[in-house]
Amino acid sequence: MAEMRLTFLGATRTVTGSQYLLETDRARVLIDCGMFQGSPHDVIRNRVPFAYPPNEIDAALLTHAHLDHCGLLPHLAASGFRKPIYATKGTVDLTRLVLLDSAKLQEEAAKSHQRFATRNPDRAAAEDEETAAALTAASKEDPAAATREAPPEAVTALREALYTVADANAALGLFVGIDYGAEVQVAPGITATFLDAGHILGSAIIRVRVMERDQVLTIVFSGDLGRPGSPIIRDPTAVTTADYLLIESTYGGKTHEPQEEAIRLLGEAVKLTGDTKGVLLMPSFAIGRTQEIVYELDRLLSAGTIPHLPLYLDSPMAQKASDVYRAYLDYFDDDARALVARHDAPIDYPDAIMTTAQKDSLAIEQAARPLMVVASNGMITGGRIVQHVKALIADPAMTLLFVGYQGDGTLGAQLQQGAKQVRIDGQDLDVHCQVRSISGFSAHADEPELLGWLGNFTTKPRTTFIVHGDPDAQAAFEPKVRALGFATAVPGWRDSVELT
Ligand SMILES: [Zn+2]
Repeated sequence: MAEMRLTFLGATRTVTGSQYLLETDRARVLIDCGMFQGSPHDVIRNRVPFAYPPNEIDAALLTHAHLDHCGLLPHLAASGFRKPIYATKGTVDLTRLVLLDSAKLQEEAAKSHQRFATRNPDRAAAEDEETAAALTAASKEDPAAATREAPPEAVTALREALYTVADANAALGLFVGIDYGAEVQVAPGITATFLDAGHILGSAIIRVRVMERDQVLTIVFSGDLGRPGSPIIRDPTAVTTADYLLIESTYGGKTHEPQEEAIRLLGEAVKLTGDTKGVLLMPSFAIGRTQEIVYELDRLLSAGTIPHLPLYLDSPMAQKASDVYRAYLDYFDDDARALVARHDAPIDYPDAIMTTAQKDSLAIEQAARPLMVVASNGMITGGRIVQHVKALIADPAMTLLFVGYQGDGTLGAQLQQGAKQVRIDGQDLDVHCQVRSISGFSAHADEPELLGWLGNFTTKPRTTFIVHGDPDAQAAFEPKVRALGFATAVPGWRDSVELT
């Protein structure tokens, strides 16, 4: 076999920035091109120049629409990449929402930094210097070590948008939507097949086959793996063979609360809100979690488990994402399709109130109680949810119900951990509302589910690369994968291996 190389350009010992480069003598294919999110030493990596000339990539393959998998594609396109980006059709439509939103937020952030710089030229200049130093450090030979030392202030000082709405549109113009299960030639000697990953609508495990002379090598990229039994979408596809495997490890060492318990807790919170004539406020990710929560509320209502409280869906992005879900009924699992066949729209709650204008969003707090609100974003770091939390945080009749993961350092995490006072928009506010959490809703397989998926392999890959996990999760997960008889490796940022 001719030389073949795989380079790990993101989601190494961390959960964001997914990006892998596969090179053969004849072609270069990129798998995911995600944004680094979270801590400053991760985020600065978005600004480190690409590890390859973007105009020399033959194709990009995208596993799913989450920003940490697709978020750098506009930057790639603006840097010279002009070739096709392959994804399932559902992913193409969701990615459009995600990238345009990301570009808009970056343009806004850049404008606000420029305003700050006009008012505080000296501070801005100092910050720019620090940013430049951090970026130089991050771009050095040992970028992983260097970025760990980057000062946290650096990131806030970045004044240029990483990309614009025009760049996002240029990248979107490169997308080619394909069907699940179809083997497509993506570059000379390389094909890709997208298999349902059961994570969010359109999500895929990508099976790449490399044909060199008379040999074939198969590399499977798990992408983000969903949970068997999740509502609406299908279960992750069983894969039985690969020469090389990359598997995500977000929840290595962790077991989720059972989904039945999550649904029971959701029903209990709704009943309590009905009894106390209160407000149930649920911060939720716009894509995936919102549709799942609406689905479960609709099921609980149909079963007569909960009273029919008004539901406000206060997220334009989530409404658009729901439209995409409705357009891909053929991606739904059997249960959801059976509901559709009975004319019971599975991701619609009866008489739900969709708010689009900002004034309608603000009016929700004055509406007749009891009521429920689902608003973005999921960790209360921005979006309409922030205003609602601010307005209702001192109200004992409000229940703030967390239905998703809260990242360290976010307002959501502070509230979830029982903070008695929090700062929002520069104001210190006392917390008098009820705070509850449900951990059983997750778009990711937990450790037993990841191991169960690995159990489908009838022949073991030569190497199983453990990616997309924090170091603790990977340390817990790796020995269990080995115990199943897999040879494992945990690659670092920009590590490169030869595949034979
Ligand atoms: Zn994801």
